[in-house]
Amino acid sequence: MPRPPLAVADRMRLLDASGIRKVFDLAANMTDPINLSIGQPDFDVPDEAKEVAIEAIRRGENKYTQTQGTPDLRRAVAKQCREEFGWTDASDRPYLITSGVSGALLLAIQTLVNPGDEVIFADPYFVMYSHLVNLAGGKPVPVDTYPDFRPDVNRIADAITAKTRLLLVNSPANPTGAVYTAQELRDLADLAGRHELLVISDEIYNLFCYDEPFVSMAGLYENTLLLRGFSKSYAMTGWRVGWATGPKPILEKMTMLQQYTFVCAPSIAQAAAVAAMRVNMSEQVAAYRRKRDLVCEALGERFGLTRPGGAFYAFVPAPGRDATAFVKQAIEHNVLVIPGNVFSTRDTHFRLSYATTDEKLRDGLAILTQLAESPPRT
Ligand code: PMP
Repeated sequence: MPRPPLAVADRMRLLDASGIRKVFDLAANMTDPINLSIGQPDFDVPDEAKEVAIEAIRRGENKYTQTQGTPDLRRAVAKQCREEFGWTDASDRPYLITSGVSGALLLAIQTLVNPGDEVIFADPYFVMYSHLVNLAGGKPVPVDTYPDFRPDVNRIADAITAKTRLLLVNSPANPTGAVYTAQELRDLADLAGRHELLVISDEIYNLFCYDEPFVSMAGLYENTLLLRGFSKSYAMTGWRVGWATGPKPILEKMTMLQQYTFVCAPSIAQAAAVAAMRVNMSEQVAAYRRKRDLVCEALGERFGLTRPGGAFYAFVPAPGRDATAFVKQAIEHNVLVIPGNVFSTRDTHFRLSYATTDEKLRDGLAILTQLAESPPRT
């Protein structure tokens, strides 16, 4: 029997927006909410990057770039890696400029995952991971990291099977704000080495690291596919630019797939990204550290929050351990946060993004605190 014209492919059945859609349905009637749900900075793109983008448009840099990215941006990224990791030879580790880290993740997972292959990552996790693995016919294997969101190497070792293909590491993490220590990363690297696994290190929040200097998996483990971006560090979420580097055979195939899918990252965004890399963002990062402190002061003890060390999220235990019920209550009081089941197999916590003004953040924290003190409704 022919398939009806509007039937979608089987693989699309696994794509599911139900969790987040329910939240946004609930939020649809909010007017001027205190929005603590947003996954992007509240500061704007640095002026230097804006000016370069405008000049690039005027100069006519509006065409396709090379698939792997402009030579200028690849040079700038290679220079950063040389300074950070001491890598001097780009011939074994090519650089690919991508349409955001999302683009890089899609290319990487399509390049690496066969149907049936298992991909291990920490639970709670960035939602895209499970969807992209499913889309490739692979099996997402979330490993529970509650209650403190540390990557327990024994639990991760237990999740490894003959079908494990990849370990996906995200530090600083969305949605928990966890930052892995050098020792934790070394333990993960040893484990990956013993099982000959490739590690994808999603380091999109590398700049937002508040207590310790940031440590990259790429400096510790050779078989790392390193992904970074400009969306969070320079508030360029709408400009769609990021980069990947790692073992040559993998990068070559990712580049080929980019040629047949995204073609290239946006030309203007690539020009702006070179300028952005020269901008010192330490003031913005310091402001976010203070916001993190505000969150911890307000919610730390009362909610039993594990102090996040980076990104701009806190993953907060929900009163009554029913996140969806608490988020509903918060929305009724004009505060928008996201229930944990959007990011996890559990629904015991909610994600709070503090990427907003101090004023809104203070107001939101006061309301959440009041809600936690009021008796649960039946
Ligand atoms: N990885 C993580 C952990 C993220 O939180 C995000 C954005 N929310 C991305 C990747 C994708 O970022 P982009 O595509 O904008 O670079």
